[in-house]
Amino acid sequence: MSSVPPTEAKARTDLAAAFRWAARLDWHESIANHFSVAISEDRCSFLMNPNGRHFSRVRASELLLLDARDESSLEGPDAPDPTAWHLHAQLHLRLPQARCILHTHMPYATALCCIKDFELLMLDQNACRFHGRIAYDRHYDGMALKASEGARVAGLLAADKSVLMMGNHGVLVVGASVAAAFDDLYYLERAAKVQILALSTGLAPALIPEGVAARTCAQWHSYPGDYSRRHFDALKQILDEEESSYRQ
Ligand SMILES: [Zn+2]
Repeated sequence: MSSVPPTEAKARTDLAAAFRWAARLDWHESIANHFSVAISEDRCSFLMNPNGRHFSRVRASELLLLDARDESSLEGPDAPDPTAWHLHAQLHLRLPQARCILHTHMPYATALCCIKDFELLMLDQNACRFHGRIAYDRHYDGMALKASEGARVAGLLAADKSVLMMGNHGVLVVGASVAAAFDDLYYLERAAKVQILALSTGLAPALIPEGVAARTCAQWHSYPGDYSRRHFDALKQILDEEESSYRQ
């Protein structure tokens, strides 16, 4: 089901905050990787980071406003990164659940993506949040420089999936809002870190039984109060005190 679009002003502020906090968590990679949020009902109109801007310096006003159906977006001095354009435009267009799309090469989750035939283990409470919600792309084929690659990736994310673990590459999370997608990205990296640490001991992991993992996932998603929103508001409160320029 498609989500309600945010106002452009709110989308700009929230997305800028997501970049700033991702940089603090060392999830950025050079000036690469992209976050986007769609602001129109049909998700055709979306905001994305400008080419060459470091995550730690992104400001709300400089986010690019793009049209997912307009190929001429790739022309001109303010054109977005082409791989990001092909992926994000196609995913916004094709996936009703993709109001916000966050793509990173964050280290622990990416490390898991580089293990042969890996699937996220139901190893702790944070991992259970993703029970049944992850799609896997095991066919890394270089950089996504054509629209057909975006269409292929969209085909991997069925309606009940909101996370894509991209083999030999990184992760992509889609969500109904910037706050929801960011919260998923945060817990995915936390769960991945625990798995890397546990597996690095060489000892046998104690897996959570399937039924318990499924029930815990349901508990995560029916938890009282808007947990993702409150988490994100808390992050913005810190940014407001320490680097409020993200709002400019
Ligand atoms: Zn990437």
